[in-house]
Amino acid sequence: MKTNKNVQNLIGCDKDYDEANIVVFGAPYDGTTSYRPGTRFAAKVMRSESVLGFETYSPYQDKDLTEISVCDYGDLVLPYGGPELVLDIISDFTKDVLSDDKIPLMIGGEHLVTLGTVRALVEKYPDLHVIHFDAHTDLRHEFFGRELSHATVMRRVWDLVGDDKIFQMGIRSGDRSEFEWAKEHLHQCRYNCDTIDYIIEQTKGKPVYVTIDLDILDPSVFPGTGTPEPGGVDFSTLLNCILKMSELNIVGADINELSPHYDPSGSSTAVAIKTLRELLLTIHK
Ligand code: MN
Ligand code: MN
Repeated sequence: MKTNKNVQNLIGCDKDYDEANIVVFGAPYDGTTSYRPGTRFAAKVMRSESVLGFETYSPYQDKDLTEISVCDYGDLVLPYGGPELVLDIISDFTKDVLSDDKIPLMIGGEHLVTLGTVRALVEKYPDLHVIHFDAHTDLRHEFFGRELSHATVMRRVWDLVGDDKIFQMGIRSGDRSEFEWAKEHLHQCRYNCDTIDYIIEQTKGKPVYVTIDLDILDPSVFPGTGTPEPGGVDFSTLLNCILKMSELNIVGADINELSPHYDPSGSSTAVAIKTLRELLLTIHK
């Protein structure tokens, strides 16, 4: 039994760990961020804003968070500095959640934290498929001499899952060599999410992990992030993808890269909370 109740929970995510089907947890780490840090504060800010400004009911899905079983475990306690120990802590926690037959849903943090959950998930699901929403390829082999970075995270995920298991959406930034490499090893939809129906077809019936780097959204929709990238999709495009993924067997997910200090109006935080709500309601069967 896991208890960590000394936290304000996300709205509608107030079930006890033992009775929950989905466990939400924060991974407050931004140690490899190359431009503007601050994502470590995302989950805390999302919790307080969700309680003050959000509904538990989704008119899009006609479902309510109060009718499903979600536990907000709070934030993991992560050390400062290098990422190796951080990834171990995330991976160990995810393994515990999986061994209790629950679905982990992590709130980053910078995007590197995804590697921690995926390491645990591939152990349980060797045929794991990954749907990746992002402005950036995140496919460098190394970045500033490091193999563990927010800019290399999907390359490290590929190390674990292999060819033709990663499906990227909304990509519009990266090194030329990353775009070339992607052609050989994975499915990449540039600039938009137009191939979502194809991706659903390819991943139906498989164990699927969903990672949403919120900078896939245009900076006019989601300015509160470390590396804003013009030319992104609007919220309804991302929402449409999330709704379509209700057909899939999603075994884990994360939302990352909200940086609250770059969100003085609170609108980016609202986008993140609404994305989380719709994703939770989509995952829950
Ligand atoms: Mn990313
Ligand atoms: Mn990104």
